[in-house]
Amino acid sequence: MELLTSYTLGELKNRLQAIGLEPYRANQVLLWVYKKFETNFQNMTDLSKAHRDMLSKHFRIHTLEPIERVRANDSIKYLFRTEDNHIIETVLIFEKDHLTLCLSSQVGCAVGCKFCATAKDGLLRNLSTAEIIDQYLWVQKDTAQRIRNVVFMGMGEPLANYEALRKAVEILISPWGIDLSKRRVSISTSGLVSQLRRMAQDPLLREVNLAVSINAPNQQLREFLMPISKTNSLKDLMKVLADFPYPPDRRIMLEYVLISGVNDSKNHAEELAKLLKPYRRKFKVNLIPYNPDPNIPFERPSMDRVYAFQEVLRSHNISTFIRISKGIEVFGACGQLRSKRLELVVK
Ligand code: SAH
Ligand code: SF4
Repeated sequence: MELLTSYTLGELKNRLQAIGLEPYRANQVLLWVYKKFETNFQNMTDLSKAHRDMLSKHFRIHTLEPIERVRANDSIKYLFRTEDNHIIETVLIFEKDHLTLCLSSQVGCAVGCKFCATAKDGLLRNLSTAEIIDQYLWVQKDTAQRIRNVVFMGMGEPLANYEALRKAVEILISPWGIDLSKRRVSISTSGLVSQLRRMAQDPLLREVNLAVSINAPNQQLREFLMPISKTNSLKDLMKVLADFPYPPDRRIMLEYVLISGVNDSKNHAEELAKLLKPYRRKFKVNLIPYNPDPNIPFERPSMDRVYAFQEVLRSHNISTFIRISKGIEVFGACGQLRSKRLELVVK
C-alpha cells in the first residue's frame, strides 16, 4: 500500500487517474487529510462508498507508530517508531502565544558536531517525506490548538535530505496541504555550502526561514566544534549567506550555541561582530546556552556570561536574542535528541 502523504497535489492527481479516479478527487481527499486531519477513508463522506473502498485499498495515511509522549512544563516530546524500527522524536513547544513543532529530518546525523547528542549515533538513514509529514499529523491530532509554526531543528541535518525535505515543505506551505505561512516554517542547517547554493536557487525552499548554526567566530574553532567546516569553510559559508537572495527586510538567523570556556568569551563575541559587520542587516543572532548531556564534556556558561556576550554583539548593532531551549528536563531540547537513549526510556 502506498503512503498518501508522499504525494503533492499534482502527483496525487496523476496517481488517482492511473487507478481510475477523476484527478479532482485528489483535492477532496487532501482536504480531509490536511484540513480535517481525517485518517480513515471511510469517514470521507463526500466520496462514494466505491471510491472510499478504492482509496482504502491503495493508500494508507500514517506510517509512524506513536509509542510515547513525555510531558514537561513547556513542551511535549513525542517518540515514534518507523516501520523499520527506528525511534525518532518530535517536540511540541509551548511558546507564549503559540505552538511550535520541532521536526526531525533524519534518523541520527552524519555531521558530527562535538556538542550534539544526535551526532553520537552517526547517520542511520534519511526520513521520507511521509515520515516528516506524519510527525505533524500525529502531533496535531493530539493537540487542540492548530500548530502554525514548524522548525526543522530536531534530529538530523535537513539539507542533507534535500529532496524529501523539499517535498515536505511543499506540503506544509501549500494551500492544498497543511497551509502554513511560509514565514512560519524554518529550516536549520549546519551550513552545507553546496546545498545552500541549491536552496538559494530554489523558488520553494528559499521562501521559508533559514537558520544557520554558526557556533564559532573563526575557522579554527568552528572546525573543532563542527568538523564539516573543513570542507564547508566559514569563508564560503559567509559568502553563500551574504549572496542569499532574501528581500532586504528578511534576515537569516545565525544560531550560536554558547559553551562554557569554549566559544563564549567577550573576545569571541568581538570576533563574531567583526565577521558579521559587513552584512549586519542580513543577519540576526540567536544565542543558545548549551544544553548539557551526560556523554559530552561541555558545560553551560553562567547567564552573566551569556548576557555579556549578547551585550558585545548589541553594541555593534547586531540584533541578538537569547534562546533558552525548552524541554531540557525531557531531553527534548536542541542537541539532546537521540534515538538510542530514547529506546532506553521506552523500555
Ligand atoms: N542539524 C541542524 C538542525 C538540528 S540542530 C543544525 O545543526 O542546524 C538544531 C540546533 O541545536 C542547532 O543550532 C545546533 O547548533 C543546536 N544544538 C545542538 N546541540 C546543542 C546543545 N547540546 N545545546 C544547545 N544547542 C544545541
Ligand atoms: Fe547534526 Fe545539527 Fe547535531 Fe550538528 S547540531 S550533529 S548538524 S543535528
